Amino acid sequence: MVIRNFVVTLQQIVNFSIYMKKTILLMMMTVAVCTGCTKEKQQAETAFDYNVEKFADLGVLRYQVTDWDSLSINQKAYIYCLQEAALWGRDILFDQNNRYNLAIRRTLEAIYTNYKGDKNTDDYKAFEVYTKRVWFSNGIHHHYGEEKFLPGFSEDFFTNAVCELDPALIPARKGQSADAFLAEIIPVMFDPTIMAKKVNQDPNVDVIVASANNYYGDGVTEKEVETYYNAMKNPKDLSPVPYGLNSRLVKKDGKLVEEVYKVGGLYSVALEKVVYWLTEAQQYAENDKQKAATAALIEFYKTGSLKTYDQYAIAWVQDNESMVDYVNGFTESYGDALGIKASWEAMVNFQDIRLTKSVKILSENAQWFENNSPVAQEFKKEKVKGITAKAITAAILGGDCYPTTPIGVNLPNSNWIRKEYGSKSVTITNITDAYDKAAAGSGFADEFVCCPEEKKLMEEYGSLTDNLHTSMHECLGHASGQLLPGVDPDALKAYGSTWEESRADLFALYYIADPKVVELGLLPNMDAYKAEYYKYMMNGLMTQLSRIEAGKSIEEAHMRNRSMIAHWVLDHGKAGNVVELVKENGKTVVVVHDYAKLRELFGQLLAEVQRVKSTGDFKAAQNLVETYAVKVDPVLHQEVLARYKKLNIAPYKGFVNPVYQAIKDKDGKISGVNITYTEGYAEQQLRYSKEYSDLPTYND
Ligand code: ZN
Repeated sequence: MVIRNFVVTLQQIVNFSIYMKKTILLMMMTVAVCTGCTKEKQQAETAFDYNVEKFADLGVLRYQVTDWDSLSINQKAYIYCLQEAALWGRDILFDQNNRYNLAIRRTLEAIYTNYKGDKNTDDYKAFEVYTKRVWFSNGIHHHYGEEKFLPGFSEDFFTNAVCELDPALIPARKGQSADAFLAEIIPVMFDPTIMAKKVNQDPNVDVIVASANNYYGDGVTEKEVETYYNAMKNPKDLSPVPYGLNSRLVKKDGKLVEEVYKVGGLYSVALEKVVYWLTEAQQYAENDKQKAATAALIEFYKTGSLKTYDQYAIAWVQDNESMVDYVNGFTESYGDALGIKASWEAMVNFQDIRLTKSVKILSENAQWFENNSPVAQEFKKEKVKGITAKAITAAILGGDCYPTTPIGVNLPNSNWIRKEYGSKSVTITNITDAYDKAAAGSGFADEFVCCPEEKKLMEEYGSLTDNLHTSMHECLGHASGQLLPGVDPDALKAYGSTWEESRADLFALYYIADPKVVELGLLPNMDAYKAEYYKYMMNGLMTQLSRIEAGKSIEEAHMRNRSMIAHWVLDHGKAGNVVELVKENGKTVVVVHDYAKLRELFGQLLAEVQRVKSTGDFKAAQNLVETYAVKVDPVLHQEVLARYKKLNIAPYKGFVNPVYQAIKDKDGKISGVNITYTEGYAEQQLRYSKEYSDLPTYND
């Protein structure tokens, strides 16, 4: 499971001011004892430019790989090989998201690099924006809203641009003319009714037929998918593999068959490269546990066996001492309306030792938190096992983690493995840091926060509580609770992801206001949590709407979860005058009247959400999500969009990666790795498409 960043949160702006204060203080201190060396370092730090560029509703940032120089040569070499493995899966994700994505991306890139016409026309400028959006979303559908975004240029412009290309550059099917190629892809790009949504969760439609992703072949229906995978499940099996995770389910001669992602199977060309670099990495591994996990992953890629996948997950979760770690594989299933198929993602990272300390405190006290939660006894875990929580520094982002990336990860996803072997939970501190520092002076707080007191709280504690909430969500929230015996982990079906995120968020919200947190030294006093409460309510009720187009409802699981929690609490807090939306000078703001009661409500909802999960109460989940999470008040929505527009903040952020260059000795062994941060966004995307793109354009 992942946790994604909330737009540009107030925290980021506030954090920046805290950061500035710290930096200024540091600079003052440096001046007093100034040496040439520290001065130079200081300049290098302030010179780092976190903002790269902005287009449409997207902002591209850059992150810094903090403490890179503190790694050993071996660790750097290890990271180098793993980041190659991370970059080789990019095309897989494009194809998983939609079967035309590679054809469209390759066409756009051919035009982008060969265009001879006037680049100052509106059409060309819109073409540039569209191309950058396709890169950003790993395809033609919005990475977050799931809807197809349309080109701002004309069909004529596109047709002419394609016809002017060297025919060898047009990614047509074998034997297909340029005209036939255009006839095939133009409707996919321009017709709003065709492949309109990557993931469609509408309960009134067939969510498989209506979703434009490429996890299922033509003509496969929701009912067929459910029947097919239910038949594989054995309720008595206490260690079920994640059926269907690594395949496309298609119909051949009227029969359903799985095309498995593996070497020799679907996506073989890319997976062979991933396997090559994982194998190369082995010589630099830190220890045997790490080696064993990677060996199992390689075996999984070679065989496609989900039993091996589980063995890999078990080996991986047990390796918790290594400095360097990574995610590489078919991992999260948010991209499939039924949550069965997993998208390919990768992230290489190493421990942020300084910040790991507070996360460690949480995990050492995990049992206390479990025992004292407002959840009914029978739904609690008797033993919360092996929660490893760390703060990490990301070194590379790949696949579904690039360019938009989670700020926290909790893996593996398999329920029984989590129960028996525990899970790894991380918060990615250099990414959060980059968000904070890039968000300087946007005016967000002045626009949306109701009162001076809240502003002050957020300024002082926003960053701290934001990070703590993320840690608690990942480390305690996802790890808590248990299913009653015999309950199907997928019982909540399409509501499952939203539900799981709500459970984790509520656990964190409930406990961030607990005196225990102050006692453990994680927060300085009993006021700090209010910063998180206020932000959460403001985001769930209002500001996250900035990411939704006018007229649309809320689709994405994390956004639904926040909306559900905030609206349920608003509704149930009416009688007690706990929290309300108030209109001041024509602007709606959230006003919290009673923080203690707000906490009680979070606790009540947590108990109910855990009950529903533990018992597999689909009807209750459906009812709450449909009542509180999905619908948008159109008037408030318009207001938020207008106020946001005035601020000119990009609601979604993504990142460019640093560039790694290996230095090899005469035996071909890596003897050093250089890191640079100068590559631009388009430059990086084009390079990836050139150097890490051997997958066929059509994989059907
Ligand atoms: Zn989560």
